[in-house]
Amino acid sequence: MVNFKIQLSAQLENVQEILVRHSRLLLAAQFRCTSCQEVTENWDSYEISGSRGEANLVIRCKLCKRESTASFVGGYSVYNEEHSGQYASLAELDCRGLEPVEFKPRDHFLVVASSGARFEDVDLSEKEWFDYDEKSGDSVSIMELETQIKRV
Ligand SMILES: [Zn+2]
Repeated sequence: MVNFKIQLSAQLENVQEILVRHSRLLLAAQFRCTSCQEVTENWDSYEISGSRGEANLVIRCKLCKRESTASFVGGYSVYNEEHSGQYASLAELDCRGLEPVEFKPRDHFLVVASSGARFEDVDLSEKEWFDYDEKSGDSVSIMELETQIKRV
């Protein structure tokens, strides 16, 4: 059994935490089939199920038709201000028949500002985000966003 950690690093300014739903996290990950090495975002079938802390991904490789799965191990992780500037894990995946090769953040992130103000549907695909927190009167930003996949 091989597990992988999806990690994120970013510089946070007046941001308390960044959250992403498990299903969204899976949609933003690219996988490689370990039997034929095919890397594709266009799998034959792609199914995401599960709820709170128990999401599951079942995909069938377009090339070799093998079905593979990924399951979350452990609970939900957020990226918070204590992590700023360092890598921290968003999730750990138990992968069978596939492995994640890249995590490309997209939209639907939830950002909580230091004041507690919430920003829904934040798009992090540009690897940075700037906004204004009306509650505190401060600017809020996420910069130098990077991701990595770590084998554990
Ligand atoms: Zn395959």
